[in-house]
Amino acid sequence: MRRHGVLALSAIVLPAAFVAVLGYVSLRQWAASAELLFREQARDVAAMAAEKVEMMLRHAEDGFLDQLRAALASPGPPGPAFDALLARAPLVGRLYVLDHRGAAVYPAGSGADASVVARLRAEGSRGLWERGGRRDLLLGDDVWVVTLVKGRDGAPLLVGCSRDREALRREVFETTLGALESPTMIAILDHQDRPVYSRGPLDGAQRLLAVPFREGLPGWRVAVYQPPGASPRAAVRRQVALFTTAFGVLLLAIVAGIAATWRLMGRETEMARLKSDFVANVSHDLKTPLSVIRMFGETLEMGRVPDAARRQEYYRVITRESERLSRLIDNVLDFSRIESGRRRYDIVPTAVEPMVRATLEAFTYPLEQQRFKVEVTVAPDLPPVPMDTDAVGQALANLVDNAIKYSADDRALAIDARVIDGRLALAVTDRGLGVPKAEQARIFEKFYRAGRSDTQGRRGSGLGLALVRHVVEAHGGAVTVESGPGAGSRFTLWLPLAAGPGASHA
Ligand code: ADP
Repeated sequence: MRRHGVLALSAIVLPAAFVAVLGYVSLRQWAASAELLFREQARDVAAMAAEKVEMMLRHAEDGFLDQLRAALASPGPPGPAFDALLARAPLVGRLYVLDHRGAAVYPAGSGADASVVARLRAEGSRGLWERGGRRDLLLGDDVWVVTLVKGRDGAPLLVGCSRDREALRREVFETTLGALESPTMIAILDHQDRPVYSRGPLDGAQRLLAVPFREGLPGWRVAVYQPPGASPRAAVRRQVALFTTAFGVLLLAIVAGIAATWRLMGRETEMARLKSDFVANVSHDLKTPLSVIRMFGETLEMGRVPDAARRQEYYRVITRESERLSRLIDNVLDFSRIESGRRRYDIVPTAVEPMVRATLEAFTYPLEQQRFKVEVTVAPDLPPVPMDTDAVGQALANLVDNAIKYSADDRALAIDARVIDGRLALAVTDRGLGVPKAEQARIFEKFYRAGRSDTQGRRGSGLGLALVRHVVEAHGGAVTVESGPGAGSRFTLWLPLAAGPGASHA
């Protein structure tokens, strides 16, 4: 049994451990690849967004420069034309135009910021005049685009225009990124990592990565965020927790199932053992009185007993043994009736004392022969008690039979009937072997016989007390035992004084 248990348990534990390890490893791998994929996607989205912004920015600037060239080409002073141009181009914050010597053509006079003019001039001297092209610069907090355009006289002019942050946010970022289909949380950060624009609130969100603009916005970056708790790692952690819980519950259910099956198996095995003991015991119990009856009968028949007193004793032995036989057969038959639910009780008010005396009568011979001290006390004022006389008589007989059977040297039997707490208490007391506390509940189970060798040495079916309990319960009563090893036993039948509802039949 133990070996089977270990086998069954390892048959679960090993595969379970294997599945757990496998699950854990594959979850880890899945987590790693999910995170990689997520990052790659985020990088793609950021790069695409940067490209879109750059394209839009270039387009707007090209438009502005075209208009600037047109303004330069038209007659009249360029100042007012530039003013008008600026008013129409919100993306351009400030506009500076320098001539070849580095003097500010626009804004004229005191409107020019000397430091900006100096920076633009320096940029010009860094090869812009010779090579031309377009440069993006960071001046202070602003991003400037610097390039050359042809002046009215054909000489190149240096044009610098700053980009207006607010207009960028509104006209470029919002229109390009706001329309992006991906649900990714995206933001534009300036050269000091301050968010200029963000899709959705960034509080608590974790920055996943940032991609710099290739041109147009030096030092600025497109950043991708993930909302709190939305990282693939957190998702995996949730999956792991879920998996572990589900797995644990499954394992628990399997173990509980096995434990239950095991218990059931144990009970079945025990029941099978008890039944086979029962068959052996009953066969023996049937055979013993039969062979005694036969032996004494034959002896009498042959007329070999001249002594009349002897003959009388032989007759009594035969009667006693047949009574034992009847009791045993009654027990077995009753038991099978009870098991199949066919046992009926005929409960009528009955005088207790005659029932007790009649029951004891059957034991006169063994009690006398084994020199039992017998004491019967029936309270004189007992009312008639509702009972099935045969059934209660049989229950009492079983108790007396046990008292005799399980007695040792101190042979005493006391029967006591009185009313306690409004119930009839019919007690059978002996000074025999007693029943250990641990077994007291089990001795009332069918086929159960207390396991000690001294009681097992006495033959029995293990049905007696099961029948007793059934009979008293059918009367709405109970049976109790007070006993200790070597201290004797007191079995008490408790019967209600008035038949309760449902007590009349089993
Ligand atoms: P059995 O046929 O074995 O007597 P019972 O159901 O009558 O079956 O009793 C069950 C067990 O309870 C007995 O095997 C015995 O161990 C124990 N038992 C019953 N009555 C007594 C008693 N008066 N003294 C000691 N043990 C008892």
